[in-house]
Amino acid sequence: SSKEHGGDHFTVFDAGMRVLTQRRMEMEMALRHALESGEITVHYQPIVSLRTGEITGVEALARWQRPGQGLIPPVEFIPIAEETGLINELGAMILRQACRRMVALAKASPDAARLTLSVNISGRQFKRPDFVDEVAAILAETGIDPSLVKLELTESVLMDDADEAISTIKRLKSLRLKVVIDDFGTGYSSLSYIQRFPFDSLKVDRSFVGNMNEAEQNMEIVRTIIAMAHKLGLEVVAEGVELDEHRSALSDLRCESAQGFFFSKPVPGEELDALVLRHWRVDAPPGH
Ligand code: C2E
Ligand code: MG
Ligand code: MG
Ligand code: MG
Repeated sequence: SSKEHGGDHFTVFDAGMRVLTQRRMEMEMALRHALESGEITVHYQPIVSLRTGEITGVEALARWQRPGQGLIPPVEFIPIAEETGLINELGAMILRQACRRMVALAKASPDAARLTLSVNISGRQFKRPDFVDEVAAILAETGIDPSLVKLELTESVLMDDADEAISTIKRLKSLRLKVVIDDFGTGYSSLSYIQRFPFDSLKVDRSFVGNMNEAEQNMEIVRTIIAMAHKLGLEVVAEGVELDEHRSALSDLRCESAQGFFFSKPVPGEELDALVLRHWRVDAPPGH
């Protein structure tokens, strides 16, 4: 009968759900342990001025060094951290760790004192009522100059409650922080929508940068994003610059800065120190 059929269906469904729930609980436990035992670390990717070729800042990127399993990329654990709420703890830890390193680096080298630090903020973190207070506490505790810190938000954060988001961004800016729209172009928001939010800069998603030299149409998209961002008073950072052709095309389009494997992959903190202390720039890449 149909009743029995329905019963079977739910039995199978429950079994599948149990496996999923169990896997998620295992991941949650492992992640919780990783946070406590320091298995989550920060790697840093240089952001380079297209005008001078110098490193002007870095983006902090979370990495999970899982014993016996190597380096786990954020795509595999950030979504679980978001679902479980562990992202709040993880996000605070990443911000604290990265601020500490930049302050120490600035002490070791005067050149590093002006490097900016970009940190990714997830939607769940951003929407928490005490998010701004927590950020303020970490800035105070580490002694970093807040005007060097850039918080990167994605379009998804802005969709649910725009007024609430604007008010949070304003509170962050009153701490003298910079606020960046990350992965621009991957969501559904237009530049005119983005205009409502008091961002300082915009990052063009790497999906546009990666194919810009393959077709005039792709180049036109990047050209338009950069030109309109400039009209709105936003500085532009291009992500995913893998080739010298990307670098020179973006430079011609007056894009201020860029980030990508052409310049450097994300590196562990000690390697960042070495890069900065060697006064690395694009016309004199490390080791040359
Ligand atoms: P994102 O913020 O857009 O970060 C840039 C990503 O592009 C990084 O991936 C970086 O390794 C990668 N990338 C940089 N240059 C190139 C290039 O030339 N070619 C290619 N193919 N890729 C390049 P990663 O480190 O795997 O991070 C992925 C995403 O995970 C980040 O994207 C960000 O959304 C999220 N994420 C990373 N760390 C954190 C964190 O601490 N908190 C939060 N909430 N999210 C994070
Ligand atoms: Mg980012
Ligand atoms: Mg990005
Ligand atoms: Mg991206």
